[in-house]
Amino acid sequence: MMDLHSPATIRHLKDKYGFRLAKGLGQNFLTNPGVLQDMVRGAEITDQDLVVEIGPGIGVLTRVLADSAAWVCAVEVDRRLEPILAETLEDRDNVEICWEDILKTDVRRLIEEGKEKMGPDGAVRIVGNLPYYITTPILMKLLEEDTGAESITVMMQKEVADRIVASPGGKDYGALSVAVQYHCETRRVAVVPKESFYPHPKVDSAILHLTMRDAKAAEVNDEKTMFACVRAGFNQRRKTLVNALSSGLGMDKEEVRICLDRAGVDGGRRAETLTIQDFAQISNEIENYQRQG
Ligand code: SAM
Repeated sequence: MMDLHSPATIRHLKDKYGFRLAKGLGQNFLTNPGVLQDMVRGAEITDQDLVVEIGPGIGVLTRVLADSAAWVCAVEVDRRLEPILAETLEDRDNVEICWEDILKTDVRRLIEEGKEKMGPDGAVRIVGNLPYYITTPILMKLLEEDTGAESITVMMQKEVADRIVASPGGKDYGALSVAVQYHCETRRVAVVPKESFYPHPKVDSAILHLTMRDAKAAEVNDEKTMFACVRAGFNQRRKTLVNALSSGLGMDKEEVRICLDRAGVDGGRRAETLTIQDFAQISNEIENYQRQG
């Protein structure tokens, strides 16, 4: 098999199958073999594991994943890649392609079916070089649905990765940081320059390894209220908490003050200084207040 990470091979396959890259599907294929190894090592894959890959493209990462894992199920929306993947994965017998939109895929079912085929031994890991136009919807779907996966190791725009791993206090810290860190522990595996792809995307990328938490980062009575508070706080991040929560949640300032007092959080602070535990306490008090007064 030729080097799938070489731009010359990608051009050859495109010509052979009359394939035109769909920019709208985020088709930037990896051309840096070191990055493939970073992804596999970062994902901590063992030969017992079941891997769900998002967006195999021409199969460059899929082949490496298949060499490390017991079973790979790759979800790809672009059926035009079918003849190419048939050729590039011809010599791998532990890969299955699921021709679906990942946003509509029942990932839990996919994992259950995969486990039946390979036996229930290893961990379940989700891995992928994400299509960047839907990075956040994919992540939120994988985090909010109970997929049964232990970890998610994904390449994304560096700017989005920076926001996900950010700590309170900085400009990158926001609703996305809270949402992801509530569900998982985050680790940055590598920063990947745009020259590592064909064609080059406009921005640099980064690989994140997200480990699903056994228990969420904070005790929250009602997640809907929690994330309504987070959105309200960060939608108007320059405002004080009292003002941002009152306008975002449609509550009187006095009511918000009572809840913040009960939560032990100063209403003059801004959302970007709050930890996940602070947000949890505030939302628990607001939910309590709305239920009982
Ligand atoms: N894994 C390959 C690599 O690293 O070279 C390709 C990665 S490319 C950045 C993203 C892939 O996701 C493309 O193959 C694209 O067709 C696919 N894709 C785009 N939207 C998708 C969706 N909604 N569901 C599943 N796959 C999708």
